[in-house]
Amino acid sequence: MRRQFFPNHDPRIITGVSGVVAKIPVTPGSEAESIIQRTPLRDGMIMAAKPGRAFYASRHILRSDQERLDEDFLWSNHRSYIYWVVNTSLADVQSMAEGQSPYTLSGDQLLRHACDLVNSFHPDILTLIRQSDPATAVWLDFNSGEPIEWETDNQITFLGDSIHGMTPFVGAGALLAIVDGWKLSKILANVVHDKVNLIDVIKQYEVEMRERTFPIMQRALERMYSLTDPNAAKKQI
Ligand SMILES: Cc1cc2nc3c(=O)[nH]c(=O)nc-3n(C[C@H](O)[C@H](O)[C@H](O)COP(=O)(O)OP(=O)(O)OC[C@H]3O[C@@H](n4cnc5c(N)ncnc54)[C@H](O)[C@@H]3O)c2cc1C
Repeated sequence: MRRQFFPNHDPRIITGVSGVVAKIPVTPGSEAESIIQRTPLRDGMIMAAKPGRAFYASRHILRSDQERLDEDFLWSNHRSYIYWVVNTSLADVQSMAEGQSPYTLSGDQLLRHACDLVNSFHPDILTLIRQSDPATAVWLDFNSGEPIEWETDNQITFLGDSIHGMTPFVGAGALLAIVDGWKLSKILANVVHDKVNLIDVIKQYEVEMRERTFPIMQRALERMYSLTDPNAAKKQI
C-alpha cells in the first residue's frame, strides 16, 4: 500500500497545480554523483521549464563520516540525495493517466509519468528521474495560503507555514518562517525586559509579518502558475 504523505488540504486552497516528487540516492561513483558534477546541481539546484511543465532539483550531500547507510532512505536525514519535483496541471496529468487517479499510481508508474511529462527536457533530467527510488515517489498537490486578517489575541499568534504556506517556486518559505521566529522571539524578550504591553507588540509583529510575507506568498503562487501555464510561451518566468 502506498504511504499517505500529504493528506488532502482544505479544498479552498487547492490551486489545480500538481506534480511528482521523489529522491535519488547519491553514492560515490553513482550516475547521480556525476550528474551533480557536470550540471548546475554542483552549485545547489537546477530549475528547467517549458510552457506547462517545470522541473526543479536540489541536492543534500553529506560528508562520508556523516552518512548512515543503514537508515531508511525514505526518511533519513543522514543519507545523501537529490530531491526533485516535476510540476504540471492536475487536468494535464489526469488525462495522461488514462482516467486513473494519479493518487493511485505506484512509485514506478509515477516515475514513468514524470519522464513522460519532461520527455523533451535535457537527457540528464530524464536520467535523474530514472535513478530515483520509487518508494520515495509521491503525487503532490501544490497549494497556497491566501492573505487574511484576524483579531490579535494574547494567547495565540502565527508564524511560518501556519499562516503563509506558499508554493516552493520562490524558495522562500523556510527563510520566512525563520525570520518570523526571530522577530517573534525578540518582541517576547522585550515584553519580559521592558514590560511593554504584550497585545500591542504581538499586533505590531503580526502587521509587519503580513506586510513582509503575504506579497511573497502571492508572488510564489503567480510564479507557479506562470511556470505551469501551457499558454505561457511568451511570458517571462
Ligand atoms: C516541495 C517543497 C519544496 C520546498 N522548497 C523550499 C525551498 O527551496 N526553500 C524554502 O525556503 N522553502 C521551501 N519549502 C517550504 C518550506 O519547507 C516551509 O516553508 C517550511 O518548512 C515552513 O516551516 P514551518 O516551521 O513554518 O513549518 P513545518 O516545517 O511544516 O514545521 C511544522 C512542524 O510542526 C509539526 N506539527 C504539526 N502539527 C503538530 C501538532 N499538532 N503537534 C506537534 N507538532 C505538530 C510538524 O510535524 C512539523 O514538524 C518547500 C516546501 C515544499 C513542500
